Order: sequence, then C-alpha cells, then structure tokens
Amino acid sequence: MPTPPSPSRPVLIAGAGIGGLTAALGLTRRGVPVEVYERRRTGDIFMAGSGLTIWSNATTALGALGLEDALLARGEPVRGGTSVNEHEHVIYRMRTARYTWPGSVPSVSISRGDLIELLVEACQEAGVTIHEGQRCVGYDQDADGVVLKLEDGSTVQGSVLIGADGIRSAILAQLHGGLPDPLYTGRSTYRGISPTPEGLDPGTVYMFHHAGTRVGGGAWHVGRGRVAWTLSCAADPSEREDPSVLKERATELARPLPGLPSRLVAATDADAVIRTDIFYHDWRERWGDGRVTLLGDAAHAMPTDLGQGACQAIEDAVVLADSLAGRDDPVAALRTYEQRRIPRVRWVREQVMRLVKWPQINNRVVKWLVTKVIAPVVIAVKQRTLWRELQRPPVPWTTRPAVRETR
Ligand SMILES: Cc1cc2nc3c(=O)[nH]c(=O)nc-3n(C[C@H](O)[C@H](O)[C@H](O)COP(=O)(O)OP(=O)(O)OC[C@H]3O[C@@H](n4cnc5c(N)ncnc54)[C@H](O)[C@@H]3O)c2cc1C
Repeated sequence: MPTPPSPSRPVLIAGAGIGGLTAALGLTRRGVPVEVYERRRTGDIFMAGSGLTIWSNATTALGALGLEDALLARGEPVRGGTSVNEHEHVIYRMRTARYTWPGSVPSVSISRGDLIELLVEACQEAGVTIHEGQRCVGYDQDADGVVLKLEDGSTVQGSVLIGADGIRSAILAQLHGGLPDPLYTGRSTYRGISPTPEGLDPGTVYMFHHAGTRVGGGAWHVGRGRVAWTLSCAADPSEREDPSVLKERATELARPLPGLPSRLVAATDADAVIRTDIFYHDWRERWGDGRVTLLGDAAHAMPTDLGQGACQAIEDAVVLADSLAGRDDPVAALRTYEQRRIPRVRWVREQVMRLVKWPQINNRVVKWLVTKVIAPVVIAVKQRTLWRELQRPPVPWTTRPAVRETR
C-alpha cells in the first residue's frame, strides 16, 4: 500500500494562492504534515489583485478552519446585491439571507491581499512552512513517493503532490502532456480599490451594465472604508497597455455609466489600477494521476461571472483535507477527493458558462421583450435555486446552531 504522509515525506503543495494556502491550513489542522512551494515572495503576493467576494459556501469552509472572526474583522459581510442599467434602473436585487444555509458564515467581500495575508498568517501560526521564490517545474513519482522538481534544479521528496499553481499550472501541464491553451472570454477588466467609500452602502454588491457599450462592472466595500471596483469591456487579448494609461482608460469606460463608477475611478491612485484579461480552461475531468492531484484554477479555471473561482478553490481545499486526513492509502484518498469534487465543480461551471454564452440581442423589440418581460420572470424563478445551490457549504458540517446572516 502507498505510504501515507509523514514529516520526512509531507504533502507537497505547489502554489501559495487562495487554494494552496487553504489546503495547507486544512491539512495541518488535521495533523497532516505539509510544505508549500511558491514562486513569488509573500510581500508580492499581498499586493496582488483587488477585491473578491467570498460567498457563504466558501466562508463557511474557512470558518470551519477557525477563520471566521479574522474574515469578518478584515472584510465586509455581504447582505445583498443590486444590479442597475445605464439609467440607474434596478434590474434585480438579491438578499443573501434568503439563500444562505443554516449554520453558515455570511458571505464576505475582502481585498485579495487581505485574504492572502490572513491565510499566510494562519498557516504560519499553525506551523506550515511556505518556501518562497521557489518555482515548481515538474514531478516524478513511484511506489514510494513523489519528487517535486524546482526551477533551481533542486528536488523535494513527498508523499503526494497537490498542484495549486493556478491557471498556468506546471503540474497540470505535466499531467496533461503540455499546458492546455487557456481560452479567452473576450473580456478584460480594469480594477482598483478606492480609499473612499463614495456613499456606497456597506454590505451591498453593486453591479452595473451599459447595454450600448457592453461595459459592465461592480463595486463593493472590502473593509476599512475601502471600495473595490471593476469595469469590464470587450477587448483583444493581445492588446498591451502601458500601466500609466490604465486609470485614463478606466475613466473613459466609466463615463457613460451613472455617477458611482466614475467617482470611484477618480478617487483611486493611478498606480493602483490594474488590468486583467479573463481566461479560463476547457472542462477536464482528469484532475490527478497516482500521487498527484490538482485543485483550484489549476483544475478548473472558470470565467469570473458568478465570482466562484476562489470559492471553489476553497471548497476543493477543505474537501481534500477531509479526504486525506487519517487515511492509510493517500493515492485512494486523492481519488476520493476528486470524486467528491468533480460533480459540484462541473455544476458550478455549467451555471457560469450559461451566463457567459447568454446571447447578445441587437433587435430592439426582442431586446425590450427579453429585458422587460422574460428576464425578470426567469431571474425570479431561477435565482432562488441558483443562489441557494451555489452557497451550499461543501461538506455537511455546521459551525454553529443557527444562521448568522447579517439581515
Ligand atoms: C478579475 C477577477 C475577479 C475575480 N473575482 C472573484 C470573486 O469575486 N470571487 C471568487 O471566488 N473568485 C474570483 N475570481 C477568481 C479567483 O481569483 C481565482 O479562481 C482564484 O484566485 C484561484 O485560486 P488558486 O489558488 O487556485 O490560484 P491562484 O490564485 O492563481 O494562485 C496560484 C498560486 O500559485 C503560484 N504559482 C503559479 N505557478 C507556480 C509555479 N510554477 N510554482 C510555484 N508557484 C506557482 C502563484 O504565484 C499563485 O500564488 C476572480 C478572478 C479575476 C481574474
């Protein structure tokens, strides 16, 4: 039988992103020795990205690892969402309390840097070693264990290897005989964090869309009075922009939308505006082989439309820890993890792809009919089931006896 993880042959994790760090913490809390290898330095990781919404399915998973108080202290609990068009007419409103499962932790909006920092601190307190500046390039495995290869030519021995190294994963590339080309959604986002709230209600995720220009976006509090904003538009993926023009470009995109986006962009430092082209992967059901498996974007990078990428990485991580802990046969445990996760992630991805492939309507009469008559009915009927199912916590644990949703 394959040897289980031990201090001399720990679980090796490639990548200290949201998924890798959550897996490291989950495994350590369950007494499984872990070592993490990250290509960047932690200071650089803290700076990465802007704001995320971590929905209740994933905050509940983090809560089970003891992070609820830290999450609520650094982020902003989400009470609901409001979506408006270019005339500031409300298209729909959503109250998260209606969709949150009993015993769940509320959804939280948080800056990506704060979430990574919180996870790194929790990992360090739990005794996890994060080897920074170590790029993973591949692996070997045999009956005794797995060998992780690093860019500097050194190798590390482990019991199993978790590829949590994101959409351009080196572990995925080896598993599938070459990195599958990420698919481009056709859209790019400009993002930033405004240091001033600009009158935006804390706890509301505010979404906006301009039908004419097809510019969409969102804005939401991420704790300590700051507001994260995004503006997304159709763009060529090969288009490169000098960082000095990003704020100017975001200002142009915000101009046709009602006041809030423009005010948020204006209040953001020019060097804090970033641009990200949105890529994803084709669906693959082969996540692992022998002593190797994948989690998070390495396994299932999806478009951002439902804000579930990081949430699914967190779900993967806690289910992986639950599947590996206390098991004598780590190879069987990895296959159990994959079987537990694949149906759920497939379903979430299908919901995201439905939104991405929503047809563009140009005929004015059909557009009016869809926007005013069909869409509200479909949203009213489908929304409840969709949001409720999305927020289902990953394993049947309950952290508290009652719902603690901020109403
Ligand atoms: C604009 C935008 C908005 C989003 N909003 C949301 C949201 O609101 N809610 C949500 O749930 N999700 C959101 N997502 C998706 C979310 O960001 C990703 O799904 C999530 O970050 C995936 O986590 P991960 O740990 O799998 O990968 P990553 O976050 O990509 O982390 C991978 C880590 O591995 C490291 N790494 C990479 N290659 C190597 C290597 N070879 N060796 C060692 N280390 C390596 C990287 O440096 C990184 O630290 C958004 C994404 C975008 C682009």
